[in-house]
Amino acid sequence: MNAVTCKVKTTNSKKRVLIVGGGLAGLATAECLARNYSDRFDISLLEAKRKTGGRAGSFQESKTGVTVDYCQHVAMGCCTNFLGLLERQGLGGQLHRYTCLKFFHPEFPVSTFTPSRWLPAPFHLMPALSNLRYLNRSQRRQIKHALFRLFRTSSDELGDLLAEPWLKAHGQDRATIGDFWSVIVVSALGESIDRVSLAAVRKVFVDGFAAAHNASDVLVPKLPLADLIGGHLTAAIEQLGVEVKTGQVVRQISAEKSIALADGRLLAADHVVSAVPWHAVNHLVPPDTVEKLEALAAAPASPISGLHLWFDRQITELPHAVLVGTVAQWVFRQPWEEDDRSSAGFYYQVVISASQSARCLPRQELIEIVLRELRNAFPQAKNAKLVQSKVVTDPQSVFSITPEFEALRPPSRTGLPWLHLAGDWVATGWPATMESAVISGRMAAASVVQSEFGGNLEVEAGLPRRWLARCLIKP
Ligand SMILES: Cc1cc2nc3c(=O)[nH]c(=O)nc-3n(C[C@H](O)[C@H](O)[C@H](O)COP(=O)(O)OP(=O)(O)OC[C@H]3O[C@@H](n4cnc5c(N)ncnc54)[C@H](O)[C@@H]3O)c2cc1C
Repeated sequence: MNAVTCKVKTTNSKKRVLIVGGGLAGLATAECLARNYSDRFDISLLEAKRKTGGRAGSFQESKTGVTVDYCQHVAMGCCTNFLGLLERQGLGGQLHRYTCLKFFHPEFPVSTFTPSRWLPAPFHLMPALSNLRYLNRSQRRQIKHALFRLFRTSSDELGDLLAEPWLKAHGQDRATIGDFWSVIVVSALGESIDRVSLAAVRKVFVDGFAAAHNASDVLVPKLPLADLIGGHLTAAIEQLGVEVKTGQVVRQISAEKSIALADGRLLAADHVVSAVPWHAVNHLVPPDTVEKLEALAAAPASPISGLHLWFDRQITELPHAVLVGTVAQWVFRQPWEEDDRSSAGFYYQVVISASQSARCLPRQELIEIVLRELRNAFPQAKNAKLVQSKVVTDPQSVFSITPEFEALRPPSRTGLPWLHLAGDWVATGWPATMESAVISGRMAAASVVQSEFGGNLEVEAGLPRRWLARCLIKP
């Protein structure tokens, strides 16, 4: 094969930045560099697939022709970097914001979790906890005790501890771990409570719930991710001057500061940002430039399953609900149409995180179990007929956020001054989320700027902590 090196023209002294990977991490890197330093850099983003967005994407269901997300994505009020990215492109209004969550337990009446608007953080959570009707008084006491201990222990002090033994050592019984900690942890971290690092659990409960009002707000896209991220967000970034090229599979980033495409072309660059997932980066970058990449590539992933269900009628009017003690964990109603009936029927999606066991079940059996659970939770579902269904599982949905994985996460800077890393898996301090991907993009942009001319770019601060939260919650 004849490799052709394409020296891309730079009109002035602008430096050429190539970003490999058009998920949120790559897009955020491009946006950050283009918005702040368009006079200094020519930026191109190369994405292997036909559409940008990566894991935050959608597909067209073959029988119904309807576009649905591979899996429903939600952000939280604490995701200031992700929300900031959308807002800067005028897309902040494309998310529904919900301040309360409904919890359904098969044996108890429905519970509404609404943090107080008037009590100061973190006490604003207390009424919401008291409203979880499936927890008894002793369980609530246990939870408050453990939360307080978590607040009083800084994340640095948690080291490589696992969550479950720590929770048991701090008085949480099996039922409390199963009905409370596990429910939040599995959906927020995508991994079961016996495997996750305590630092990640602390991150969820402190940043995602306790530290500020509105941290636990749930934000759901009003349109499919393929339109929001792959469409509008990408178009806005192109408007900033970034060249976005899809269908470009990068085979290798070479030590000679160039990248080899699968079609044989070589592209030269002044800086390369690798923004591919943790399991793909080791094959891509020059050997021995980033420590521990082999171990990262072999690190376990956790699957998330989305059950796409079309009914002949509405099964609930709620936009979403959390199911406790069941195989189904979250149910979402079609979020992007006023009238939620498409030609295919009334659409709902059930999400099962850490779905290792669920995905081993035969498809039909899994659907029947989930249907039973939905009928038990929602009276309207009893007479509803399922007209179409599809189960989508990505076995590598998210990295498994174990203490071992936390220890492997690298910074954006590598051993080579021109090579930088982005991706939800770099050392952002966040679990595998859209927020982590966007933070990593900003970190990679900062690394480019730092290495090129010593400039600085900050990651956006989280929600401001008021006086009481600062006193009670260690950093
Ligand atoms: C089922 C599921 C549910 C989720 N739910 C949520 C949620 O509710 N909330 C939330 O915040 N997060 C959620 N996440 C996580 C979130 O999607 C990811 O953390 C985030 O999208 C990761 O972005 P990224 O850019 O780091 O990686 P990716 O999205 O994986 O992007 C990497 C990109 O690199 C491209 N690429 C790879 N190799 C090459 C190559 N050789 N050449 C060119 N391009 C290449 C890929 O095609 C891809 O587009 C979920 C993920 C899944 C899978």
